[in-house]
Amino acid sequence: MSKKRSWVEIDVSALRQKYSIYKCSLLYQHDIMAVVKANAYGHGDVLVSKTIQEEGVYRFAVATMDEAVRLRYAGIEGEILILGYTSVENTEVLIEQKITQTLISEEYAEALSSYCGRMGIDSAKLQCQFAIDTGMNRIGLDANHTQYCEKVIRRYANIFRLTGIYTHLCDADTDSPDALRFTQRQQALFQDVCVSIADLNLPSMHCLNSAGGLWHDNHQSTDVRLGIILYGLKPDRTNILPAGICPVLSWKSTVTMVKTISAGETIGYGRTYMADREMQIATISTGYADGYSRRLSNRGYVLIRGRRAYITGRVCMDQFMVGVTDIPGVTMGDEVVLIGSDGEEELSADEMAEMIDTIGYEVVCNISARVERIIAKESC
Ligand SMILES: *Cc1c(COP(=O)(O)O)cnc(C)c1O
Repeated sequence: MSKKRSWVEIDVSALRQKYSIYKCSLLYQHDIMAVVKANAYGHGDVLVSKTIQEEGVYRFAVATMDEAVRLRYAGIEGEILILGYTSVENTEVLIEQKITQTLISEEYAEALSSYCGRMGIDSAKLQCQFAIDTGMNRIGLDANHTQYCEKVIRRYANIFRLTGIYTHLCDADTDSPDALRFTQRQQALFQDVCVSIADLNLPSMHCLNSAGGLWHDNHQSTDVRLGIILYGLKPDRTNILPAGICPVLSWKSTVTMVKTISAGETIGYGRTYMADREMQIATISTGYADGYSRRLSNRGYVLIRGRRAYITGRVCMDQFMVGVTDIPGVTMGDEVVLIGSDGEEELSADEMAEMIDTIGYEVVCNISARVERIIAKESC
């Protein structure tokens, strides 16, 4: 009998394998920066980072200082880059933990520098990398003005310990002539900035995400910032990944009760599902507070005993119900696959995303902290 309430299984050997398949698919031998923000896209950041560190990766990227500190405490020794905003008041922690902070803009760099001045902190001890905006219009110095970028980078290279610059491709996963032109323009703009500061010999200059590494690789990037494909998911649902790359995460739960209801009875909040005949339903111990989207109400399905069981009624905070009339023998304690495979059937995070009009990234990132992460026994 399955006893846990709701849990995620990570196939660690598959994770290692996906990493090496990805690395072998690259045209050039870039370093890999493992993107493990948002709890490694819901997969468990410490587990993923330690596994990937054992494969020789010594660069990691996260989104917040807390994520970075967690990895340090867990024994991750390499470079940890924060890809976004950190309050200047955390500068001491950044220095103490040898965490690399992204410089979001000239204004942000100035705020950091003046904070160091006010507090008597030696700013040269703070490791930083400048974000360069080549067309995403999110963060970074505007690469349309190369001379401006050059001037700002040189100025702050004298103030902080500047270890690199990077940009982010925003359409690298789209297969169209227009997207290709845009990506090439982003790379050309980035290249201009890199050339203008070549004499600084910054160790890291990177512009590739997972999709960029596979489909827009060029030797200009020192690293590939590998996120979604490390987890075996597609950047875009239309992508075709290299053979052997498939999901490493399964999400499972438990049947807690089975009952028979009569024609005309309704199920769940708002009574949105009405039985048109006598039916068997099963209750499952996962809900939207676990990150199981409420938008799957009356739409999604799970796998029980290798068969599909469709959701009946609304997903509740901690539980939901499915119809199991056509699946013989379902009983309390049965294991339920929410994401993953069971016998012949498979339901991936990408497929679940399609049902609710989002992307696989959001589905896995949303799996909440109360869902335990464990190492899977079998291989995918
Ligand atoms: C999240 C993120 C990545 C990783 O992107 P994937 O599409 O998951 O490979 C890389 N770079 C930056 C700046 C990011 O924010």
